[in-house]
Amino acid sequence: MSLDADLRARAAKVIPGGMYGHLNAALHGDTYPQFFVRGEGARQWDADGREYVDLMCSWGPMIVGHRNPRVEEAAARLQARGDCLNGPGPIMVELAELLVDLIPAADWAMFSKNGTDATTQALMVARAATGRTKVLIAHGAYHGADPWCTPGLSGVTPNQRADTAEFTYNDLQDAERAAAEAGDDVAAILVTPFKHDSFEDQALAEADFARGVRALADRLGAALVIDEVRAGFRLDLRGTWEPFGVRPDLSAWSKAIGNGHAIAAVTGGDALKNAAQTLYSTGSFWFSSAAMGAAKATIEILRESDGPALIERAGARLRTGLYEQAKSHGFTINQTGPVQIPWLSFDGDATLERGVFWAAACLAEGVYVHPWHNWFLSTAHTDAEIDRALEGTDAAFAATARRFSGV
Ligand code: PMP
Repeated sequence: MSLDADLRARAAKVIPGGMYGHLNAALHGDTYPQFFVRGEGARQWDADGREYVDLMCSWGPMIVGHRNPRVEEAAARLQARGDCLNGPGPIMVELAELLVDLIPAADWAMFSKNGTDATTQALMVARAATGRTKVLIAHGAYHGADPWCTPGLSGVTPNQRADTAEFTYNDLQDAERAAAEAGDDVAAILVTPFKHDSFEDQALAEADFARGVRALADRLGAALVIDEVRAGFRLDLRGTWEPFGVRPDLSAWSKAIGNGHAIAAVTGGDALKNAAQTLYSTGSFWFSSAAMGAAKATIEILRESDGPALIERAGARLRTGLYEQAKSHGFTINQTGPVQIPWLSFDGDATLERGVFWAAACLAEGVYVHPWHNWFLSTAHTDAEIDRALEGTDAAFAATARRFSGV
C-alpha cells in the first residue's frame, strides 16, 4: 500500500471525511495524492516521494518559492525569540508601515491569519462605519468559509445569509439593480479583482466595471472592498485595480502575503480608520511575529525584484507553450485569467471530461495542475521550471489525444 493510501485509511477513522473541505483529494477519485511532505523552490513532493513541478503554489500562498531562504530566515529569527508573546512584536509596526508605503489606498493595516478573517473583518469595518447591514457580492465569487459567504450551506442559517445580495460580475447594470433592491442599506460592495470562479473560464475585470462599482459605492455612501486574497501581489504590488485608477476603501489580503506563513491583512484609507478601531478584532495567534517577519521579507523580495513582472514572464511562457502544444495535438483550448493566475479548459468540454483527464495525465508526468480551480505561478518558476512543466504537459496532451481520439 502506498503511504498516501495508508494515511487516507487512518485519516478516515479520525478526521471527518478523511479530509474535509475542497482540499479533499477524494474529489479527484484516486488520481490525486492527498498528503505532501516537502516543498522547495517550484517543486513539491507527495507523501510517497513523487516530485512535481508545482503550478498550484499551495493554492496561492507560495509566491517567491517554497522554503525561500530569505523568508525562512526572517521567520526563524523571530520564531527563535518566542513567536507568540503577551503582545505583538515591533515587526507588526514595521509590516504595517511597509504595506502603507506600498499600497496607495492604504493608510493603515490590521492583521489576522486567513483570507476569511480579512474579508469578514473588512465587511465589519464597512458596517461599523456606515451603520448599515447589506453587502453586495458577485454571484459565484468566493470570499471565504464564514457563514455570510461560504458556498456550502451546511451549518448555515438563512439569517446568516440574509444580508448578502448578489450581482453578475462585469455587469454594472446588474450591480445597480442589486443596489437598488438593497435600498439605503448597503454597507459594502465586495469584489475580487477579476472573476476567478472554479469550474469555469476566468474573466478579467473590465475597466468600466471597475470604475463603475467605485462610482456606485460612492453614490451609495458604501465602502468599496477589494478582495485581493487570491490575486494580491501577483499582478500589481500596489493593488490589482491600480492600473485602472480604481482605489478601494478597504482591501483584504492573505495567501501570498507571507509566502506560506499564516497571515492576512486588511488595509484601508484614513476615512475608515476610526471605524476599524471600534471592532472587537483579535485571535490567539493573530499577533505572532514569525509570520509577520515572513510577510515583510516576502514583500521586500517582490518589490526589489519586481516580482509581478517575473511571474508574468513565467506565465506568458507557459501560456504560449500550452497553446502550441494543444494545437499540435489537435485541441482547441481556452486559456483564461491573467497569465500569473492561469486556467485552461478544452473547447466544447462542458463536463470537464477532457480537462480532468488531462490534469491527471499532467500529474502522472510530474506536473501539478488543477482541473477546475485556477493555478498560480511564482518567481521560482524560472524558464527552466516552465520548460520542465511543458515537457509534462505535452505528454499529457498526447495521452488526452489518444484517449479522446477523433477530436
Ligand atoms: N477570498 C478569496 C478571493 C479567496 O480566493 C480565498 C481563498 N481561496 C478566500 C477569500 C478565503 O481565504 P482563506 O481560505 O485563507 O480563509
